[in-house]
Amino acid sequence: MSTSIRGAATPAARTAPLDAAALRRDFPILAQEVRGKPLVYLDNAATSQKPRVVIDALREYYETTNANIHRGIHDLSEKSTAAYEDARVRVAGFINAARPHEVIFTRGTTDGINMLARAWGDANVTSGNEILLTEVEHHSNLVPWQELAKRRDARLRFIPTDPAGVIDLDAFAGMLGPQTKLVAVHHVSNVLGVIAPVAAMARLAHEHGAVIAIDGAQSAPHMPVDVQALDVDFLTFSGHKMAGPTGIGVLYGKEHLLEAMEPAHFGGSMIRAVELESSTWADLPYKFEGGTPNIAGAIGLGVAVDYLDGIGMDAIDAHARQLGAYAVNVLSDMPGVTVHGPDADGERGGVVSFTVEDLHPHDVGTVLDGEGVAIRAGHHCAQPLMRKLGVHATARASVYLYNTTDEIDCLVESVVKAQRFFGTV
Ligand code: PMP
Repeated sequence: MSTSIRGAATPAARTAPLDAAALRRDFPILAQEVRGKPLVYLDNAATSQKPRVVIDALREYYETTNANIHRGIHDLSEKSTAAYEDARVRVAGFINAARPHEVIFTRGTTDGINMLARAWGDANVTSGNEILLTEVEHHSNLVPWQELAKRRDARLRFIPTDPAGVIDLDAFAGMLGPQTKLVAVHHVSNVLGVIAPVAAMARLAHEHGAVIAIDGAQSAPHMPVDVQALDVDFLTFSGHKMAGPTGIGVLYGKEHLLEAMEPAHFGGSMIRAVELESSTWADLPYKFEGGTPNIAGAIGLGVAVDYLDGIGMDAIDAHARQLGAYAVNVLSDMPGVTVHGPDADGERGGVVSFTVEDLHPHDVGTVLDGEGVAIRAGHHCAQPLMRKLGVHATARASVYLYNTTDEIDCLVESVVKAQRFFGTV
């Protein structure tokens, strides 16, 4: 039976709708004007803004507690160690990990997936094995597996998806077999906003003895992610996309899998005993955290997940879905605008990619910037997906808990301005 150490939020807090207009005041950066207009920050899939509690926690840590962890016998080092380990407990609670030591602090999603490809992949994937991915993956959930496949003479296979990025579960089930070692898929696409059926995929993968690793970079910030309920083996995510600092992230893994893995980084802090010719490793989670970690970052992430839990992940999820659906509806009603990804009533979150006929996404982004509206334009680290969509790039608006319907209206008005400016309507 699994244990639950989920954190702070009460059920009431988790179901009440959130008040984005009030929450904005927690984020000092949002109060500014950009190019003489109020900032409309819709680039949250790239990185989120930080609430004052997180900024204050970082400053307070450096002003009052800073010391290296796990090695000092002095007061500051003990306090710093306690704060760092407390952050691990909070983050474990946030994703409902059964044990805090299943949470490994990393630099972010990319770092976590690379660690996994080395530490789990090199030991478990051999010649002729298959790794199942989708064409929707971010480069960070593709390139490390390409490299692993090269090292181990394994094969990458791509689970069919429809044009909106929806995974074909029947086709997936048909691809699984004794040769399948790993399924590595996104939870929420950073381009299409589509939500993958991760629990069903985990069940199917396990029926065939495969391990499933989820790229949670776009889900952990926006929806309740319960690793035990989903029954995923590994999950990676980044602090900076979820109100936390940059340079900190998480690799979650089931205890028995992490126990069986060799470390990926070698050096100080991760050893039990060192001889001249060989060494033995510390217990979990330390064997995966060689060197001085991002102590302040981990503490900041602990504060960030408490902040999110205090608002309620169900409410944050509902808000992202509602704003995402609203944006999809209004954008797809515009002449010359194509929205990529599921319809407003599909399984989608608050990431909305679109293209505007006869306009390069960079031009759209530049006109929007002039209106104070921050979006992203480009391939979004998903070049194979761009090819599949038949575009070079898209414009992408992505929301967070502090965005409002008025801001989506502002986005739409700015897209109209771009069309008028370039004379395409
Ligand atoms: N996967 C997805 C789905 C992402 O959106 C991102 C960030 N854009 C990453 C992986 C990589 O995250 P990071 O740059 O924080 O390592």
